[in-house]
Amino acid sequence: MNEWNIQTRASTCAACQVDFTNGQPYHTVLFDERHGLRRSDICEPCWQKQSASPSLRQSGFVSHWQGVFEVPPPTPEPIQKENAESLLRKLIHQNNPRHAPAAFILAVMLERKRLLKVKETIKQDGRRIFVYEHPSQGDVFTIPDPDLKLDQLEQVQKDVAQLLEHGIAESEANPAPPAEATGPDSPASPAETTATL
Ligand SMILES: [Zn+2]
Repeated sequence: MNEWNIQTRASTCAACQVDFTNGQPYHTVLFDERHGLRRSDICEPCWQKQSASPSLRQSGFVSHWQGVFEVPPPTPEPIQKENAESLLRKLIHQNNPRHAPAAFILAVMLERKRLLKVKETIKQDGRRIFVYEHPSQGDVFTIPDPDLKLDQLEQVQKDVAQLLEHGIAESEANPAPPAEATGPDSPASPAETTATL
C-alpha cells in the first residue's frame, strides 16, 4: 500500500459533477480502500443524501468534515526556495521510506505553525496514520507515524535541516553540493529549523 499521499481538493462535486463555487460549503469524506485512503469531495445536497443512506457506513467510511471551497489563485506562485511545506510535498511524492521520519517531523512543524491541521488519526495494520489538511488549499496529506524513539530525534532533526538547506535531489545525487549553492540567499540556518521543534 502506498501509505503516503496528498489528495488535492476537487473543484467539482464527486457525486453530481457540478462545479463548486467560491465560498460554497462542501464535505470531505474519507474512505478506507484496499490501496489506501480515498477522499471524496461532495456538495451539501449530495452529502445530505449520502449521509442518510445506510450504505455509507458499509463502504469503508472513515471520517468526514466540512470545508468552504476557495477558488485557487489564477496563476501559480513563482518558485521559491525550499520551505517546510514544499519539502514535505516532495518527500511525499518521492515516497522513500528513508525519509519517513523527516516527513513526519516536517508535518509536526507545519502543524505548530498552523499551516496544517490534523483532521483524523487512523489505525491501520497496527500503525497510526495522521490525516492532515492544508486549511486554505484543502489538500489532504496522509502521513504514517514513524514511531520515533527519543534517541532518534536528534538525527532526524539534522536530516530535516540538511534537506531544507540542500533539497532532496542534491543531498542524494550529489553528496557534496557545488560551491555556488551556498550564497547570501541560502535558506534558514539549521539552528533556526531545529529551534522550532
Ligand atoms: Zn453534488
